[in-house]
Amino acid sequence: MSHAAVSPVLVIHGGAGVIKRDMTPAREHAVRAAMTQALQSGYAELKAGKPALDAVAAALAVLEDDPNFNAGKGAVFTHEGRNELDAAIMDGYTLRAGAVAGVRRVKNPILLARAVMEHSPHVMLSGDGAEAFAKEQGITLVDPAYFRTEERWQQLQKALKEDAAKQPHADVETARHFGTVGAVALDAQGHLAAGTSTGGMTDKRWGRIGDSPIIGAGTYANSGCAVSGTGWGEFYIRTVAAHEICMKVTQMRVPLKRAAAEVINQEIPSMGGNGGAIALDAEGHISIPFNTDGMYRGWIGADGAPHVALYGDEDDGTTEIPEPVPAESVAQP
Ligand code: ASP
Repeated sequence: MSHAAVSPVLVIHGGAGVIKRDMTPAREHAVRAAMTQALQSGYAELKAGKPALDAVAAALAVLEDDPNFNAGKGAVFTHEGRNELDAAIMDGYTLRAGAVAGVRRVKNPILLARAVMEHSPHVMLSGDGAEAFAKEQGITLVDPAYFRTEERWQQLQKALKEDAAKQPHADVETARHFGTVGAVALDAQGHLAAGTSTGGMTDKRWGRIGDSPIIGAGTYANSGCAVSGTGWGEFYIRTVAAHEICMKVTQMRVPLKRAAAEVINQEIPSMGGNGGAIALDAEGHISIPFNTDGMYRGWIGADGAPHVALYGDEDDGTTEIPEPVPAESVAQP
């Protein structure tokens, strides 16, 4: 099959639910800097002709290492006061996927998810087994204390108090799932990939696993569409959100923006959920819908300039992206 190559594109998110009044200038600066660095790291892979998977993994590893995001260092705490991390990655070209759930000592869960995909016969590993595999693969393990930040600890204390007082937590639900990271990329070969990494939701219980590591729910990619979701995970699982968006695009030929909006702005809120997603199609069209006050988001394309936006009323520039220009035709198997 012959396929017109397009300019590489990388889109990232750092979670939905950001509220302007809760931000300090210092935090805003740090978040924008980390998002920019993640875009540049991932895009460098694409510029070097590397596969979309490499861009996704590189961008997400930067965000996992940054304490401002709910993934890797800075992950939220469970009810018992632990950090249990979930991540997944999917290659749209081959439909291969890898995921890890409930890991407590893996510094970069996205790298372990990729190792599961590439070096194990399985798609998803959890807990101790996943960590034993990480060790075997030479993936960096850290003391669980590495993930702790004071801010996340205080968020848990607040949630525990609210639980004890049986207070309703309408806006707390948003705060509880804020900061997950995700990336979708289109490489020079026209192949797509998606990845997501998270600490889950503050105060989560009993080995709870969210949507992020569940292929089709929080993370999905095929030959025509890639999606990473962020939000109240239970709703993303019940709507199989990422897969749903991609099926609309590739099977029903619904334009990407409409497909993503139908799931994120209609289906999920109609069930009582909230959140957002980043979506990318094989022609380089981007969609970043969210039904929360804001969402950390960014993209980088042909001009190599990183674009980052945090708030709902901030122009993220996605409407200004010129129609992708087909480059030369490349042969594909
Ligand atoms: N979706 C994630 C979860 O439910 C949380 C998030 O996106 O912030 O685990």
